[in-house]
Amino acid sequence: MNCGFETSAKTKEELMPKIVEHAKTAHGMTSIPDDMKKKVEGAIKKKMF
Ligand SMILES: [Zn+2]
Repeated sequence: MNCGFETSAKTKEELMPKIVEHAKTAHGMTSIPDDMKKKVEGAIKKKMF
């Protein structure tokens, strides 16, 4: 997401729900498309690993 949202979690499994919640509250998204999930996962890997 290109909104500057940042959060932290120990694992992707903890992080994804936070991202989903942010997408709902800040962007009004009811679900995250698969292609966006892949982008998010790519960003997570760059930042965390
Ligand atoms: Zn956002």
